[in-house]
Amino acid sequence: DEGTAEAKGYKGHDMLAPFTAGWQTTDLHPLVIERSEGPYVYDTNGTKYLDALAGLWSTALGGSEPRLVEAATKQLKTLPFYHSFWNRTTKPSLDLAKELIGMFTARKMGKVFFTNSGSEANDTQVKLVWYYNNALGRPNKKKFIARAKSYHGSTLIAASLSGLPALHNKFDLPAPFVLHTDCPHYWRFHQPGESEEDFATRLATNLENLILKEGPDTIAAFIAEPVMGAGGVIPPPATYFDKIQPILKKYDILLIADEVICAFGRLGTMFGCDKYGIKPDLVSMAKALSSAYQPIGAVLVSPEISDVIHSQSSKLGAFSHGFTYSGHPVACAVALEALKIYKERNILETVNSLAPRFQEGLKAYADSPIIGEIRGTGLIMGTEFVDNKSPNEPFPAEWGVGAIFGAECEKQGMLVRVAGDNIMLCPPFIMSHEELDMLIDRYGKALKGTEEKVKQ
Ligand code: PLP
Repeated sequence: DEGTAEAKGYKGHDMLAPFTAGWQTTDLHPLVIERSEGPYVYDTNGTKYLDALAGLWSTALGGSEPRLVEAATKQLKTLPFYHSFWNRTTKPSLDLAKELIGMFTARKMGKVFFTNSGSEANDTQVKLVWYYNNALGRPNKKKFIARAKSYHGSTLIAASLSGLPALHNKFDLPAPFVLHTDCPHYWRFHQPGESEEDFATRLATNLENLILKEGPDTIAAFIAEPVMGAGGVIPPPATYFDKIQPILKKYDILLIADEVICAFGRLGTMFGCDKYGIKPDLVSMAKALSSAYQPIGAVLVSPEISDVIHSQSSKLGAFSHGFTYSGHPVACAVALEALKIYKERNILETVNSLAPRFQEGLKAYADSPIIGEIRGTGLIMGTEFVDNKSPNEPFPAEWGVGAIFGAECEKQGMLVRVAGDNIMLCPPFIMSHEELDMLIDRYGKALKGTEEKVKQ
């Protein structure tokens, strides 16, 4: 294949470089991406890669949607910026808020608060919940319960909510008001003979026991991704949310759905909440909201909560929170156009027509001796490498099996997400069936290359 990295003699870059994001350096020879076209990105050498992660779980409409560029340009020419402080705002942000409330049908939502990112959305959730409980005269109802292996972002509070040790170690996190309960990963954590339903029951019981131990009056909210993303693409076991939700209701604990990856069709439903019957009090969104063409996040707030905040603000003082770029008109204009495209092109039909091929194509490799589990739903999939197909027999970390697979993918001309020995794929919705077959084929070749290296 002429255009691939391997054909061009690409040697791969160090995926285990000692920083994660943001820190910019050329010393470690990063892969520098220069342009994008549909589901492909090109590096500065002109090498073409199939972007099997949609940027960072985000460019649902691929890398060259002219309507999003036009929407941004038009808005930049009309009003490149105005803020949304002190009851001033702009039309695109009002229109987008209205659109989001109309689209989210899992339960009625009242208000929208805009942020620049998913992390800021989750930080905002904590402030909203604390303000709400203060307004109701219960300032001690403060603690948050999140789940092991969850990812909710990188700011101090969002990283605290996350259940990944790498985000806590070295940073004195999590913050003391955050508790973590079980990761709902059936394959890894079920007991011998335990069904998915029984596993879900056990996790719900553990959650209730944690609430009782801490004191229900001290627990404010529970936060969950419908399908866990960065923790390794972990769909919930059958009946999980059916069993969790009544417990939260029983103890008057708010439910926050972190839809940052799942929202806007990724699972084959418009929102992850639709797929699993989740009726949240608050929702976080970002990423595909603008197909990542502009940085924007949003929090949807139930009318019960927003009414309390509105009615109490004169007593408590304003909900003093917001960002210069909250509701940025260009980001909102782009997001409005993205939502229009999702509707016009019937994005759910597209996802549901691609998903079976994607799922079955990858699951065909499940017999590989180095694969423990291939899992996912809709257009999101994860692969976990282990020895002897056992969740209890990880490969030695220094072998870097996941990183080997990532490098093999790069050689094949494909970009995936590597986290330890977990691999994640989250392709853009605009892939053709042929491109999807190419993705599956490259995955297979990368797997073969990895198997050979692991055997040595
Ligand atoms: N929540 C989830 C579920 C995510 O996957 C992410 C990012 O991957 C975030 C929150 C944080 O979003 P951001 O990186 O935009 O701050």
